[in-house]
Amino acid sequence: LIAVPHRRCRPNAYWRWDLASFSVHIYAARPIAAGEQLSIHYVPLLQSAAARQDQLLDRYIFRCTCSACAASRATRAVSDARRASLRAFVDTPWAVGPLRADASAAVARAMRDARIEEHFFADVWSPALCYAARAALALGDAPTAARCARRAAKLARVVTGVDGGWARVADAPERAVGWRAGGSGLRLEEVIEAVGDAPF
Ligand SMILES: [Zn+2]
Repeated sequence: LIAVPHRRCRPNAYWRWDLASFSVHIYAARPIAAGEQLSIHYVPLLQSAAARQDQLLDRYIFRCTCSACAASRATRAVSDARRASLRAFVDTPWAVGPLRADASAAVARAMRDARIEEHFFADVWSPALCYAARAALALGDAPTAARCARRAAKLARVVTGVDGGWARVADAPERAVGWRAGGSGLRLEEVIEAVGDAPF
């Protein structure tokens, strides 16, 4: 039995249904102060404020008055655009595929957007950390690759229940695929910097 957390569009926790243990796993998305109310999302957050409200009303007969939903029309429009770009980011398989300068710029931009939106969600940060780990591997930076891969493994577990092979990369970056593949001019440093102070 779990207490029902608050629902918000800028939650401080992330949840995943775990089929194996037949239970809900709740993860802190940022440090949560003692006594602070736990909040999770009830509807997909990478959609517009209007779409979130429609679903909340429809499914839970609930009108969200969180700061993201109660903002002015202009602020909501900016937030909607940012969430749309984050949705496009999440839908792109960044953990695989070539490392490219434009891809690196997109990952770094998505991380900035996520921070502004307070989208401290595993499903947004997980692909960014995978890309950052691959960037550090390509640059031959073992400590950074290990650090990013460890965080990528942790978030992959939060999102999917398995580490996606990143724990092995964290243990031995020099033996991973893509080690010292090179990448000058691919703006890989920008990605590593963008995830540097990620909340996970
Ligand atoms: Zn809301």
